[in-house]
Amino acid sequence: MKLTRLLCIGIALLLVGCESEPQTRQGKFYAFGTEIDVSLYDVNEDVANNTITILEEAFSNINNSWHAWQPSTLTTINAAISEGKAIAVEEDTAQLINLAKTLARDSQHLFNPAAGKLFELWGFHQDNWFESHPPPSESDINNWLTQRPTMDDIHITNGELTSSNSFVKLGFGAFAKGFAVDTAIKALKQHGINNAIVNIGGDLRAIGSHGQRPWIIGIRHPRQSGMLASIALKGDESVFTSGDYERFFQYDGKRYPHIIDPRTGYPAAQATSVTVLHANASIADAAATALFVAGDDWPTIAAAMQIDRVMLVRPDGQIELSPLMKDRVRLIGNAKPAIIRVLKDSSTS
Ligand code: AMP
Ligand code: MG
Repeated sequence: MKLTRLLCIGIALLLVGCESEPQTRQGKFYAFGTEIDVSLYDVNEDVANNTITILEEAFSNINNSWHAWQPSTLTTINAAISEGKAIAVEEDTAQLINLAKTLARDSQHLFNPAAGKLFELWGFHQDNWFESHPPPSESDINNWLTQRPTMDDIHITNGELTSSNSFVKLGFGAFAKGFAVDTAIKALKQHGINNAIVNIGGDLRAIGSHGQRPWIIGIRHPRQSGMLASIALKGDESVFTSGDYERFFQYDGKRYPHIIDPRTGYPAAQATSVTVLHANASIADAAATALFVAGDDWPTIAAAMQIDRVMLVRPDGQIELSPLMKDRVRLIGNAKPAIIRVLKDSSTS
């Protein structure tokens, strides 16, 4: 009798063990000069390993095709533009460039991926961008401002790309990570994976949930170690942040961050961090850069880009939130955010 009871308890424990909660499996690899973390919920080890390999390949392909200064599809296109020649482009290349054209136009060209020569002048299109070097001369910047290349100069017709301005140099650093994350999520969905996060150096897109709980993500504080805020994600959403702490060099005691205002030719200085929440990662990435550049004008540019979830941190530390972002973000500490209406936003603050 006693033995039978013990056996039953033993079997019951075994069953509880078998029914334990599904696991989150994680994989890491490097691309775009940063770490990529993939979290997959409720998949077995073989599927997880196979998926991570597929994503690693996808990221590596995108990085190789769109690298701005190592030989790539992009450098071939840029060489043709500077020589004033037409160049044939594949359908997927045309799609990416046309998306960049639309986003650039919507942002009133504050997101300006045709400004590669300007990023180069500042030394950000080279591997040693962080080393101390003098800023560009005023005459070089004025020369760029006179030519003022934008994505409107690029035309693609019947698979052939031409530029009406040979000063255009394409550089997709401000949205290639978003594009790669969208590509990764598409691949995950095609493989039947519906609960995952693809995180590229803190910028990410999440799908599904973590069992009964949502995915909860943190946003880095631009001036302190640790987090500024957290967001519980709902289904398929992307969170991208542009900050002045990510890439910069110092010269003569001055700091020069990597996001350049195409209106002035100098680094944008009216924000320290901008976070955008949007379904699509490419759009969130381009918009975070554009709104960082926009500074004071961010509500107007956000409206023009149809972005309604924004958190911006001012150089004095003031946090500004759009009303719809206020509903989503949980600030850490006792910050008192200002609620700033985006034109399109119909909700009340
Ligand atoms: P992100 O970190 O996404 O804001 O992208 C910044 C990177 O995009 C920089 O390192 C530059 O290569 C490039 N970039 C800088 N300023 C701009 C701009 N106004 N528009 C488009 N790309 C930019
Ligand atoms: Mg960006």
